[in-house]
Amino acid sequence: MPNRARKWQGLPKFQEAPRRKKIGTILKLAGVSCVFLGLAWTLCYLYFDRAELAVGFTGLMVVGVLAITRSRHADGMSLLIVAHGVFLSVVGVAVIDAPIAWVPRSAHMFLLPLAAGAALTFDARERYGSLVFPLICLATFAAFAVGALDFLAPGTSPPIEVRAWGARSNTFLAMALLVVIFAIYRIDIGNRVRLERELGRAVRNGEIEVHYQPQVRGNGVVTGVEALVRWRRASGELLPPGAFIAQAEESGLIRDVGLEVLRQACVLLAQWADQPATHGLRVAVNISPIQLLDPGFVAAVSAVIGDAGVNPALIELELTESALSAETAETIEKMEALERFGVTWALDDFGTGFSGLSTLRTLPVRKLKIDRDFVVEATTQERAQRLLGKIVEISQVMGMSALAEGVETSAQRDLLVGLGCDHFQGYLFARPMPKADLANWLQRHCLLAAAG
Ligand code: C2E
Ligand code: CA
Ligand code: CA
Repeated sequence: MPNRARKWQGLPKFQEAPRRKKIGTILKLAGVSCVFLGLAWTLCYLYFDRAELAVGFTGLMVVGVLAITRSRHADGMSLLIVAHGVFLSVVGVAVIDAPIAWVPRSAHMFLLPLAAGAALTFDARERYGSLVFPLICLATFAAFAVGALDFLAPGTSPPIEVRAWGARSNTFLAMALLVVIFAIYRIDIGNRVRLERELGRAVRNGEIEVHYQPQVRGNGVVTGVEALVRWRRASGELLPPGAFIAQAEESGLIRDVGLEVLRQACVLLAQWADQPATHGLRVAVNISPIQLLDPGFVAAVSAVIGDAGVNPALIELELTESALSAETAETIEKMEALERFGVTWALDDFGTGFSGLSTLRTLPVRKLKIDRDFVVEATTQERAQRLLGKIVEISQVMGMSALAEGVETSAQRDLLVGLGCDHFQGYLFARPMPKADLANWLQRHCLLAAAG
């Protein structure tokens, strides 16, 4: 099944990438610190001829290597495994590191950056990682600090000269890690605030640009286009949706961005309405799950379409399947209200969410958009191919149409045609393009289709 990670984390489509980046950074930091510390202490104890204590630090190195390897996956589970590995290693070392004479314990200091790292990296919804685990770290830190765990200390202690030097370097390193973690998050927050401020202005300054990707049938007839947002920054740089939608959703700015895309789509429809070749084409507009939570959503969408004076039946709103996992009853009500107004609904990225057949039956959805991952897998895996055939069948039984997304090769198209799918979108036919290029593309394509 494609995009499993998104499914089990229940995260909106665009929240996943920034989260992975954050987890990857923190895993690399933890990994490099553990390998460096583990190696330094192993060598140090070997130098002082205490091989039995040096062994203890190899565990820390193993955890470090694990963290570096898992930083490529950068998922919540990797973070949890590494966090526990670091916790156990630090506790093990802190037990040996019991205070002696004038040298205090210091290894437990590393529990502070561990608590801060977990609290700031896990999502607030992941209560164990973001709250329980940091509290366990802090409680263990306090227990070591007041000497409550001294009774666990083994009789054998590292040489006093190493302990004295270690107390200073451990404290310094643990504090440095704490500072680095806070610095990473300060920079992250700074970048977010800046992007949010600029995105807020972008809508007002006309920087929201919409590109359009044609949708076609097997016989080459164009049925419509999907409107895909871009942000043309004042510098001229063009940002793809992946670079700003997550931020727009978190800040709520997606409501304004989404309505602006709809407004521009309506302008296009109004221009198409005058020409016989284009007057029946539809425009599909993506709707974020955050927009649907807005109580004024239905009124705002109807107002934009009403003001433009276009036929609402030519507007298709796309909602991702994962958006239906929460607040289903209220969501369906809003979908139905807009359907009564005249627009139609399509279920986007179908196959990545978890809508059961019963949910699907109750939804006012006319089209299933089969996710690109499914299309790719179907060309290589027998099982995926059979599944895709079933999806097409289900859509037919339910009176919906099925559109395959991300079709890149004629082999994929032929396979899909064989499975009964007759609506396509993908680079094989056309890439998303600015409005001016779309006019040329349509003219060329319609002439070719007429000639053919
Ligand atoms: P989506 O709705 O699944 O849109 C299809 C994405 O796949 C587009 O990426 C498109 O450029 C890309 N694509 C199309 N054909 C192919 C193909 O043959 N191969 C490959 N590899 N990719 C293909 P884009 O434009 O970067 O959009 C990404 C996502 O951003 C969209 O995914 C949609 O979820 C979101 N998005 C775009 N515009 C809006 C918007 O106005 N509002 C909201 N809320 N989300 C939007
Ligand atoms: Ca879409
Ligand atoms: Ca899609």
